[in-house]
Amino acid sequence: MPYQMWINGVYTASSSGNVIEVRNPATEEIIGTAPAGNAIDVARAVTAAQTAFLAWKRMPAGQKAEMLHEVARKLTERTEEIAHLLTLEGGKPLVENRDEMGWSAACFRYYAELGRNSRGRVVPSIEESQLAMVLKEPYGVVGAIVPWNYPILLMAWKVAPALAAGNTVVIKPSEMTPLSTLFFAEIFEHLPPGVVNIISGYGVDCGEPLVLDPRVRVIAFTGSLATGQRIAQLAAPQMKKLHLELGGKDAFIVAEDANLEVAVPAVAWASLLNTGQVCTSTERVYVHESIASEFIDRIVAYARVLRLGPGIESTTDLGPLIGELYRAKVEAQVEEARSQGAHILTGGKRPPHLERGYFYEPTVITNVSHSMPIMREETFGPTIPIMTYRTFDEALALANDSQYGLGANLYTYDPLKAKRFFEEVQAGTLWINDPLTDNDAAPFGGFKFSGGSRELGEEGLEEFRETKHVHWDFEGGAKPWWYPYGK
Ligand code: NAD
Repeated sequence: MPYQMWINGVYTASSSGNVIEVRNPATEEIIGTAPAGNAIDVARAVTAAQTAFLAWKRMPAGQKAEMLHEVARKLTERTEEIAHLLTLEGGKPLVENRDEMGWSAACFRYYAELGRNSRGRVVPSIEESQLAMVLKEPYGVVGAIVPWNYPILLMAWKVAPALAAGNTVVIKPSEMTPLSTLFFAEIFEHLPPGVVNIISGYGVDCGEPLVLDPRVRVIAFTGSLATGQRIAQLAAPQMKKLHLELGGKDAFIVAEDANLEVAVPAVAWASLLNTGQVCTSTERVYVHESIASEFIDRIVAYARVLRLGPGIESTTDLGPLIGELYRAKVEAQVEEARSQGAHILTGGKRPPHLERGYFYEPTVITNVSHSMPIMREETFGPTIPIMTYRTFDEALALANDSQYGLGANLYTYDPLKAKRFFEEVQAGTLWINDPLTDNDAAPFGGFKFSGGSRELGEEGLEEFRETKHVHWDFEGGAKPWWYPYGK
């Protein structure tokens, strides 16, 4: 089925007429097409967003809030349709995509309220006859560039706060999963034309013109480190505000007091959710040596019974990887580890019973070290590489030995270990005894090469607001410190 872009409230094809063929990663079949947008389409969308900006900015916050609540209501009503489409194009199990719709609606509700909560603050003035205000203002047009692994959620984390802050938006989804985002024209239909625009296309042809358009004042981007670096280079000459959410290589420390009945399924789920294609997937596991043997036996047995298949089937635990290139990257890291002496205890291959689709078995690996790419580079696949440690100092040092710092996990009931963990590990989210739970009211983002920006929470709204200091003297008399000096 052909989908269209949505610019200024109007459905439109790409000016070139070209399309992207979108494949189901579980079957490799083409399930629809999206316009392959280019610089001309981007310019039209940015013009629409810029034209809509002032009226949207001036709209009272309570009215904006009602419109964002309406987005959440319609999204909730259409959950089944969108989740189904997203499973077809993105591969995630349907149950996970239903959850994604729920979290996305919650995000719109959260920012609907937060956006009308404050516009800044009043601070003590320099003299009595004055008022000093710190005002928060929207930037203008925001470009939201989104990846394929959580296309709706990561769109919501940008669009909801950007709109609540009074900006207008041009959304560019990934070329791998454009359809469910283009569907959102129906969800945003009640907004004034141009407040939200949805374009589709490849990174270089459609993403780069959006970054380079001088009328776009903020680029909110989630994606790989390499693309984030490219965007930063392109945006630097314009001093454009960047909001970057990049890759991760999350550590999971299992302390000697952990309850393995809980810690084993926790590590497996944190590593394998969405077939390991979560930015906060656990990609490095550090287990205390006293429990390592039992932990490894149990997690191997656990991984072996998980069911692979198309996400559309309700019995599927793990869907496919998003594409052939992504699977090839996982295979290369596993083979490199194997060639350097790692032990593949289960998995390490494509499932023989699934001939079509980009499937890869959940893979438990031991005898790994930090010299291997599988412990250093983002894998984005269903791998569980495990190392043992002797002291907690050693575990913390291993967790910090990464260029990334997105999230980190710990299982322990020892408060002293927990305190050291959340104070010393360099990561944006520290999960203790409950992996990967996000909270709309708490910021999400990473240290180091994970990007440094924050989505969600008050911080997530601040990313879309400029700060002004307004200094107002009611009396407006001449000041004794002006010229001429020496009087
Ligand atoms: P990607 O960088 O390949 O693509 C992301 C988006 O950028 C897509 O829309 C793509 O079309 C666009 N793009 C590509 N090249 C571009 C260019 N030169 N200029 C402008 N736009 C361009 O990433 P991906 O493969 O879609 O997503 C996976 C990556 O996203 C992983 O590295 C993952 O860790 C990261 N991610 C991070 C978070 C987070 O919150 N930190 C969340 C999810 C995913």
